[in-house]
Amino acid sequence: MAGMATRRDFLKTAAMAAAAATTSDAAPPAAVAPDPLFDRPMRWAQLTLVENDPGSYDLQFWLDYFQRTHSDAATLSAGGCVAYYPTKVPLHYRSQWMKDTDPFGDLVRGCRKLGMTILARTDPHAARQDVYDAHPDWIAVDAQGNKRRHGSMPELWLTCALGPYNFEFMTEVTREIVTRYQVDGVFSNRWAGSGMCYCEHCTRNFKAATGLDLPRSNDPQNPSRKAYIEWHQQRLFELWDVWDKAIREANPKARFVANSGGGALSELNMRTMGEKASILFADRQARSGLTPSWANGKNGKEYRAGMGNKPIGGIFSVGVEEAYRWKDSVQSEPEIRLWALDGIANGLRPWFTKFSGVLHDKRWLPVVERVYTWHWRNERYLRNTEPLARVAMVYSQQTAHYYGGASARQRVEDHTTGYYQALIEARIPFEMVHDEMMEPERLAPFRVLVLPNIAALSERQCGQIRDFVRRGGGLVATYETSLYNERGARRANFGLSDLFGASYANGVDTRMMNSYLRLETGADGKRHPLLRGLESAERIINGVSRLHTTPDAAYKNPPLTLIPSYPDLPMEEVFPRVEKTDIPEVYVREAGGGRVAYFPWDIDRVFWEVLSVDHGKLLRNAVDWAANEPRPVSVSGPGVLDVTVWRQKDSMTVHLVNLTNPMMMKGPLREFIPLPAQEVAVRVPAGSKVRAVKLLVAGGSPRVRETGGEVRLTVPSIVDHEVVAIDLG
Ligand SMILES: [Zn+2]
Repeated sequence: MAGMATRRDFLKTAAMAAAAATTSDAAPPAAVAPDPLFDRPMRWAQLTLVENDPGSYDLQFWLDYFQRTHSDAATLSAGGCVAYYPTKVPLHYRSQWMKDTDPFGDLVRGCRKLGMTILARTDPHAARQDVYDAHPDWIAVDAQGNKRRHGSMPELWLTCALGPYNFEFMTEVTREIVTRYQVDGVFSNRWAGSGMCYCEHCTRNFKAATGLDLPRSNDPQNPSRKAYIEWHQQRLFELWDVWDKAIREANPKARFVANSGGGALSELNMRTMGEKASILFADRQARSGLTPSWANGKNGKEYRAGMGNKPIGGIFSVGVEEAYRWKDSVQSEPEIRLWALDGIANGLRPWFTKFSGVLHDKRWLPVVERVYTWHWRNERYLRNTEPLARVAMVYSQQTAHYYGGASARQRVEDHTTGYYQALIEARIPFEMVHDEMMEPERLAPFRVLVLPNIAALSERQCGQIRDFVRRGGGLVATYETSLYNERGARRANFGLSDLFGASYANGVDTRMMNSYLRLETGADGKRHPLLRGLESAERIINGVSRLHTTPDAAYKNPPLTLIPSYPDLPMEEVFPRVEKTDIPEVYVREAGGGRVAYFPWDIDRVFWEVLSVDHGKLLRNAVDWAANEPRPVSVSGPGVLDVTVWRQKDSMTVHLVNLTNPMMMKGPLREFIPLPAQEVAVRVPAGSKVRAVKLLVAGGSPRVRETGGEVRLTVPSIVDHEVVAIDLG
């Protein structure tokens, strides 16, 4: 078997493919080297002071803790809502406890002695009565025209993010902080406002920019809402530029760091953010409600889609992050560890955050110290240069904004989370790709694209996907993928109809009850590989919502056909009225050089809701079949593992994060459930020689068998995680 090609080989192939491609009109993205100032730190510490900390918190305790945890960067409270330094900016409220001291300055000096990179933290979202009295127009206004009080602390006011409070007042604050302390950047929390603002500035500026009144409707097809979605982002990116300029005038190396970003449901365009930012932080501090334990890693993938190889931190809190906001609480050790470790496995640099310099519960201190010390000892295997995953799941902010609207969580994100869960269960390493970043160079590392109901796609994006398949790439798509244009207007047919081998037949069953899929045998008497693991099944459950589709004339022998709904009550009437149809419920075909599987129903969303084992197998098999190559890493053994695979300068790593737990889908974890032995097979990059194999958690070197470009080994047990590190020559 041929060894895995390196990313450089892929890039070369891609460059040739790009030269041959006809539909790609974008200039190839320039390779951006990370800014060394922000690429150096591997472990971040955040101390957010509370107003009464000055005079009572122990500065030396924190500096010692930063040192003990080998934290090489810090984010420290400076100003905005409360100033922790002797500010001269009028109306910039100083901590009433700091008197004539300079708590921020003391922290900066201490951290600088430790050689740490330093970000000043600002938070502009709330202001006091004196600000209101002096500048009532700086305060956010609701749809009824009332100035908005702060929800948690009603004596404060919410500020307008898009008017002079941020553009003028906070620019002065930002300039003062950087001028005075020469910090490496300013990290602004809650800088993007607190929802819609109908103040005089927003009303006037929106009218001037678009000719429209601010929207009163959430419907993304409402012209005013549609315009607002764009204008709001433009305005925030303008603010980003204003602050970044003020920062650089005061310290040319320093940068603005926005606390923004995320996946499909996030507001600001991740492509633009990735272009502007030197570093970003995924701010998902812990689980709340029903959140699976892989959610921090998902954020890592989403940010990386925009950031490429620029550094990304993963902010984790040590406390309970439920709606009731127990900000001084402490989570269980396994919960803190697993959240941080899954982020690390997915390329995030850990950042712990603590509010209040005075600690009311110290149990988290050794927990974070143990994670950070392990991270520091193994740093050279954690300084990744590229992921080696061959599967990429596309996410689409435009689909969430213009097709999902107020229901984006169900209509968009639930499809993604369903497919995400299926890939975790299948132990397939994968990345995520932003739908506006599908140039051939960016897709070159990947063998399969997964489009979980990526409904809104432009003609150009459809062309990029078509080119990808023409170059030999595999495609798995579900439900309404490409049935809408990039602004959410319905097409007559799928934009990718030619690839699917199916046309939209202008109808949808939105809530099917008691419908099934018949598993068919091909003309050769065999079943399609898509049905692997379902050998003894004649039929399995269908989804809930299906599109009516018409196959191309050439499509014969679909592996899955529809058994239509029949009564589910009274029980005497529960028998199929139609035993068999020829209506395809999956389209599989070879197109150009690649393989395409298209499900015209909501398989991924239903998987998230129902978690049917059979649907999980279909989702897994579709990816394996479309890839048409061995996986870069296979791991066999019982349990649920998040598997990621990375390249570093002189090595590669495979992270195995043990998610097996009764609290996997809802925290907090009570304990780890250790996994028994796992057999691991890793494809070695072509032309590389394996010099040594180590287990970075259990320690030592396992016995290794090398055959046909693969390294095989047994990982004896996994408590929370294991990292297989392979030194390459
Ligand atoms: Zn406003």
